Amino acid sequence: MISIQGKGVSTGVAIGPLYYYQRAKSTIRRYEVENTEAEWERFKAAQAKAIEQLSELAEKAREEAGDEAAMLFETHQMMAEDLDYEEAIQGLINDNKLNAEAAVTDTAAQFAEMFASMDDAYMQARAADVKDVSGRIIGILTGVVQGGIDSPVPVILAADDLAPSETVQLDKSKILGFITEGGSGSSHTAILARTMGIPAIIGVGDQLKPEYEGREVIIDGSTGNVVVDADEATKSYLLKKLEEQKKTQEMLNLLKGQPNVTKDGQSVRIYCNIGSPDDVPAVLSNDAGGVGLFRSEFLYLNCDDYPTEDYQFEAYKKVLSDMGDKEVIIRTLDIGADKQIGYFDLPHEENPAMGNRALRICLNRPEIFHTQLRALYRASAFGHLGIMFPMVTSVWEVKEAKKMCERVKAELNAEGKPFSSDVSIGIMIETPAAVLMSDRLAKEVDFFSCGTNDLTQYTLACDRQNADLGRFYNPHHPAVLRALKMVCDNAHKNGVWVGICGELGADLELTETFLSIGIDELSVSPRAVLPLRQKVRETTVADVREKLVGDLLSDENAI
Ligand code: PEP
Ligand code: MG
Repeated sequence: MISIQGKGVSTGVAIGPLYYYQRAKSTIRRYEVENTEAEWERFKAAQAKAIEQLSELAEKAREEAGDEAAMLFETHQMMAEDLDYEEAIQGLINDNKLNAEAAVTDTAAQFAEMFASMDDAYMQARAADVKDVSGRIIGILTGVVQGGIDSPVPVILAADDLAPSETVQLDKSKILGFITEGGSGSSHTAILARTMGIPAIIGVGDQLKPEYEGREVIIDGSTGNVVVDADEATKSYLLKKLEEQKKTQEMLNLLKGQPNVTKDGQSVRIYCNIGSPDDVPAVLSNDAGGVGLFRSEFLYLNCDDYPTEDYQFEAYKKVLSDMGDKEVIIRTLDIGADKQIGYFDLPHEENPAMGNRALRICLNRPEIFHTQLRALYRASAFGHLGIMFPMVTSVWEVKEAKKMCERVKAELNAEGKPFSSDVSIGIMIETPAAVLMSDRLAKEVDFFSCGTNDLTQYTLACDRQNADLGRFYNPHHPAVLRALKMVCDNAHKNGVWVGICGELGADLELTETFLSIGIDELSVSPRAVLPLRQKVRETTVADVREKLVGDLLSDENAI
């Protein structure tokens, strides 16, 4: 038995075979082949497999986001079978004796260049498609799997680290748990694991060896323990814990349908954070009151090119209609920092967390913002929508963003396209500037949602991605809690409600503090809804308010 200690970032026990994430290799081997006929057959087999995968993806996209979304994969399918494309590859294999993956690489480059040089914008956009299709075929030829997992059974997935773009593309039905060598608890990969309700352990370093692949692993997300080939006693102890976990869940399930109200009658709304329309069933089954944060950038991370207005419209519409009359707050694109997307072509930055990200990109590249807002307003006709802007620092940014909303509404009106007249507008409070300006910002919006992951990072000048900064990145720091109180006071003075959608919202050690300062909404991962409801229902705020608010300001707590 091998026992490894990491840091648990998403609770729960999971057991299954260990599997190493397969990352696409950036360099393709190039060599001369003797048997060109066999090489051509190798290409044909990979092409057939790619077409099969694309048709499955088209079906999945159709079910989840409608015909428009499916069309992307259907276009890719057609491209994979295109006769000119095939002929070019065959020529390179037969005449130049090139191996199949190199022939596909060269053909892709040649076709992409040809498309990119065309005048027609539609044809130019096909350059990305041909690269994408070719990448899929090359992945099959080299044995590297799209989506990172090629296993018939669900696995415990191990990786050095996973970028958010890699995490969103994983086949979730194949994952029992995550283990990463590096990573930090407030990284988006950890956040996604919690949203999906999958146990996760980070920071195991080099203790986990590739040769353990295929062996049985048990992970305990609450302690951060990883056990390879557990002995009988350890296995039965951990399996018992798994059983207890199920029993606790059954108890929590009894709270479904109950209000989130303290013993002395103070209510708080408990909403969920999601990253995809696929997360809505978990929101509903955990009886959340709404969606407090839909991280819309994950839609972009899941695409190989800018998602079209229709593609986004279908995804937002799906979330809104599946949520019925419950409120859904969709955050506009928050790309940049750790969430990088190749097709945005963002220049390299020394300090990306403080650079061109989120609302700044939207204001600098209004065509991207415009497309997203059109999709959002069109979707608003199908439910109860709130739109929220991330990474605000100044009043003018909010004014400019609202102006774009007005422009979009006027356009839709002129086009006779329906939208709701009741869309609320909010901002995330994630920067010290937004905290200090919250009295003034409150006059511009309907609500605030505190993004404590970034608010901690910027208030404490402490990179949330840097695992070595562990004890310095402290969301319980009085500076962060005082900031939250200040935001609450300024919001309430101006008739604006305040939520918390950072990970801190689910921290049960602070629930009483949040209730004491008057937080109106807590938006958490679906699995955290019922434990939070339980905590709220056990609390009498009147007993603790004075002390907890006093503690925020007292000298003893000035750590
Ligand atoms: C936050 O910063 O707290 C937040 C909710 O946004 P994200 O984690 O996506 O940056
Ligand atoms: Mg943030």
